[in-house]
Amino acid sequence: MSRLLRPARVLLLGPPGSGKGTQTERLLKRFDLPGISSGDILRRHIKEGTEIGMLASSIINQGRLVPDDIMTEVVASELGRRHWLTPANSWLLDGFPRTRGQAEMLDSRELAPARAGLNFVVELVVPEHAILDRIANRLVHVPSGRLYNLTYNPPKVAGRDDVTGEPLTRRADDDPAVFRKRLHEYRASTQPLVEFYKNKGAGVVWSVAGETSDVIFAQLETEVVRRFGERVEET
Ligand code: ATP
Ligand code: MG
Repeated sequence: MSRLLRPARVLLLGPPGSGKGTQTERLLKRFDLPGISSGDILRRHIKEGTEIGMLASSIINQGRLVPDDIMTEVVASELGRRHWLTPANSWLLDGFPRTRGQAEMLDSRELAPARAGLNFVVELVVPEHAILDRIANRLVHVPSGRLYNLTYNPPKVAGRDDVTGEPLTRRADDDPAVFRKRLHEYRASTQPLVEFYKNKGAGVVWSVAGETSDVIFAQLETEVVRRFGERVEET
C-alpha cells in the first residue's frame, strides 16, 4: 500500500467489458484512493428498487445510456456525500462522465467540488475479441460491485462472493444483443470524450492497450507512479 504525493483526479474510459471495473478495484487498493462507479451506483438503485432504479433498469437492459439529467442527479447526490471529492485529494471516477453533456456538467457549478477538473484521463484500448470473451465469462457481486471472471479470476467457491459468501449474478445487460448496443453507444457517445479531454490539456489523456487486465494494470500502475509520485507507507 502506498499514497500518491500529488493529487490524481482520474477518469477511466473504455468500451464496455474493457475492464474499467477491474482496473478501478486494483487502483483503489494499490494507492488507497477513493472512487465511485456510476454503473455500480445504478445497479444498487435497481437492487433497492428506488425510483431511479426503476427508471434506469429498463434503459440499461436495452443497452442504452441513462439520460444526462438523471445521471447528473444520481452522481451529484452521491458526490455530495463524499467528503474526499475536492481538488486537493486524489480520486477516481469509473463510468462518469460518459457523454459530452456529462463532462460539461462535471466542470460546472452543479458538481462544484470536483471543479478543479480531471488531470488524468485513461483510455483503455482492448481488442474486441477479448472483450466479447470476457463478458461471456463475467459474474458480479451486486452489493459491492466486486467482479469475477470464470477464466481469469474465478470465485473461491463457485457462484459465491469471496468476501461475503453471497450469490454472484450475471449482468442482464451482458446478453450478446444488448452488449452490441452498448458497444455502439460507447463509440457514438463516449469515445468522443477522448478528443474532448485531449483538447483540454496536453498529456491529460493517456491510452493504454492490452488483452488482459494484468497487462493493462502493470502499465497503469507504472504511469500513475510516474505522474503523481508515491510514498510507501510502513505497515
Ligand atoms: P463495463 O462495466 O464492462 O466496463 P459498462 O461501462 O458498459 O461496462 P457500467 O459502467 O457498469 O458498464 O454501466 C452499465 C450501464 O449503466 C450502461 O450500459 C448504461 O446504461 C448505464 N450507465 C452507467 N453510467 C452511465 C453514465 N455515466 N451515463 C449514462 N448511463 C450510464
Ligand atoms: Mg463498469
